[in-house]
Amino acid sequence: MPKPTRDLFAQHMGGLQNFAESYGDSKLKRSRSEESLTALIRKVDIVAAGESKEMWANIENLTTRVGLLKPDCKIGCDHCCYQVVAATIPEVLNVAAYVRANFSAEQQEELKTKLANYMRDSAPYRDKIETSRLCCAFLVDGKCSIYGVRPSPCQWFNSTDVKSCIARRSDESGPFKVAGNYLMAMPFAVLAKGVKNVLERYNLFSGNVDFLYGLKITFDNPDAAEQYLAGVDLYAPAKLDPEEQSRVMAQAIPTDD
Ligand code: SF4
Ligand code: SF4
Repeated sequence: MPKPTRDLFAQHMGGLQNFAESYGDSKLKRSRSEESLTALIRKVDIVAAGESKEMWANIENLTTRVGLLKPDCKIGCDHCCYQVVAATIPEVLNVAAYVRANFSAEQQEELKTKLANYMRDSAPYRDKIETSRLCCAFLVDGKCSIYGVRPSPCQWFNSTDVKSCIARRSDESGPFKVAGNYLMAMPFAVLAKGVKNVLERYNLFSGNVDFLYGLKITFDNPDAAEQYLAGVDLYAPAKLDPEEQSRVMAQAIPTDD
């Protein structure tokens, strides 16, 4: 990542978006398959993680006032895991593939029970999903059990004040909205835009679903990936409309003034 002047930063972000688009395009052109979708998500995650690491290392070089805002995020800090996560279908498929390959049979059964409980407990929140403070099914002993493949919003969400996260966790009156360093979220946002663009190019649903609801659908339908790739609207009940998406995992954006 170049030392960020505004122009260079914008140029770099544009390059990241183009990268996600062309990588996805090359994969899907070769094979319209679940493997291509999960390979795209995994590649984008690697790039985003590298960018994010570099941002952390260079945070004092970010030239704007916002750039100087240091997130309070630390390993083991889990208050933000008590809200609905928005995820794309390829991200959901990627997590499902990870679970099948890495969780023991017992862990998979346990997860299925948690997802069933989530469906029951989240029902009263369906028309105001951003007010849910249900615990994520993947939070185990205060740690994310799918850390390496967690959906993009879980990677970019940050807060410059952990006290506001603690307050939000017990406040069901609105979205889990906290002030964060949005510059650090930018690489994730532009890479996600690249993924969205390429999915649309292949006539695939590119919006977000409620992550845990999407996983429940995936596990209930062994051919979920094939159906998604064939354009079947299997995930319709879990979809978040654009307004809901902007309320779920809402990041308050401080200005540069
Ligand atoms: S967003 Fe808040 S709760 Fe989550 S890791 Fe950062 S400071 Fe902790
Ligand atoms: S997937 Fe992991 S990081 Fe995201 S909400 Fe769940 S436990 Fe937290």
